[in-house]
Amino acid sequence: MSTALLAPYACDPAQSRGRRFAEQAAPTRSDFQRDRDRIVHSTAFRRLVYKTQVFLNHEGDLFRTRLTHSLEVAQLGRSIARALGLNEDLVEAIALAHDLGHTPFGHAGQDALNACMAAHGGFEHNLQSLRVVDHLEERYPAFDGLNLTFESREGVLKHCARRHAEIINAQEPGGVAARFLNGTQPSLEAQLCNLADAIAYNAHDIDDGVRSGLLTLEQLQDVSLFARYHAQTLAEYPQLQGRRVLYETIRRMLSDQVYDVIHTTRAALDTHAPASADEARQCPPLVKFSAAMYEESKALKSFLFRNLYRHPQVMETTHWARDVVHDLFAVYLAQPQEMPAAYAQRSDVPRAVADYLSGMTDRFATREHARLTA
Ligand code: MG
Repeated sequence: MSTALLAPYACDPAQSRGRRFAEQAAPTRSDFQRDRDRIVHSTAFRRLVYKTQVFLNHEGDLFRTRLTHSLEVAQLGRSIARALGLNEDLVEAIALAHDLGHTPFGHAGQDALNACMAAHGGFEHNLQSLRVVDHLEERYPAFDGLNLTFESREGVLKHCARRHAEIINAQEPGGVAARFLNGTQPSLEAQLCNLADAIAYNAHDIDDGVRSGLLTLEQLQDVSLFARYHAQTLAEYPQLQGRRVLYETIRRMLSDQVYDVIHTTRAALDTHAPASADEARQCPPLVKFSAAMYEESKALKSFLFRNLYRHPQVMETTHWARDVVHDLFAVYLAQPQEMPAAYAQRSDVPRAVADYLSGMTDRFATREHARLTA
């Protein structure tokens, strides 16, 4: 992307705060394009294909995985970025990396690992995503991790509890965790990825929920954000049946949310007129839904919580996954030699176990569980 197309408030790779380890510039790619390429070639990225979003990987071939979810976030993020003059390459890099730290088995895995790590500093997937790109990937001769730019790392660390921010900020003063202590915002590109994440999962979880049979179109009539476009679709195509009704409804839902973000954000940018990416970080959050869309999106999210994520059938696999993670954690903690040498030899055993376990795919964790608890 040529710099000429970037708005003044966009992150410009030429103005990047740089990498932790200095590197020569690439001859043909900007630093953000290079970050994206490093992420795509990473081991953690390839594992996303076998990690659960909501439905376990083996439950069906059509459900979203962390990989297809990340691609959808990148698609939505890029199309909004282009309309706003933000840096598409940076948005793509952040979107593709945003879930790299997720455990196997989705949120059940994260909650279980966090419980196992309670006495050892806890486990949090956003922090883990940063650990993956900063430390755990082993691809370069001269450093651990992917050595991404500050701006990509800032976007990857999208939430962070204060106690964790204090630790990271002590290691990296004024770095990626400083904003959780001083109340500033991340770049507009990072703000956009957070919103694109929510737009993506709200929409694809409806799709997966309906196709799995756990949600019905009748139930979804309670959700205004769905019901409105469902009615529109049927009014325009009265003969339409089956999954095309669902897809057309979701398509309209997605489009309207994207345009809502673009319009609302443009207005906020006009009001605050940040003259640079750094000025945008000092403003309140600028990439956002209108108040009305925000409420509708929140209502949809809580509908999905009640009716899909807490559905008895989902909860059943959730409980099973929790047991798998607890069992694996206990075994590796007691017998670190069951892990590969690079993990087994580390002095902080609980953290080594958390790093190893969280990197696993659903199916690898399942196989290890069978091997170690048979
Ligand atoms: Mg996500």
